[in-house]
Amino acid sequence: MTDKCEICGTEGDDRRTLHIGCMWNMVEVSTLFTENQETKMYELVMCKGCRARLLQHVKTWIEEHGRLADSHLDDDGIFGYSKEEFEAMQKQKVEG
Ligand SMILES: [Zn+2]
Repeated sequence: MTDKCEICGTEGDDRRTLHIGCMWNMVEVSTLFTENQETKMYELVMCKGCRARLLQHVKTWIEEHGRLADSHLDDDGIFGYSKEEFEAMQKQKVEG
C-alpha cells in the first residue's frame, strides 16, 4: 500500500505517522498536522527522507549545549537572567 508524505508529497510504501501529544495546538505550528479525535494527538504522515530531516532537527535541538550552558533559564526553561545580571544591564542602559 502506498501512502503520500504529507510534507514533501512523495508517494511510497515506507510512510510512518508522527504522533505528538504535548497539550499544544500543533496546527499553530503547521496546518499539515491533523488532530486524531480519538487519541487527541496530532499526526503527520511522512516519508523516510522527511523523518531523517526531522530527527536531525531534533538532534540539533537537544544538543543546543550553548543555549543551556551559557544561559540562565527560568523555571519554564526560557532564557532568563540572574538578578545581578539584570541589575548590571539596567545600570549599563542608564550609563549609556
Ligand atoms: Zn517526505
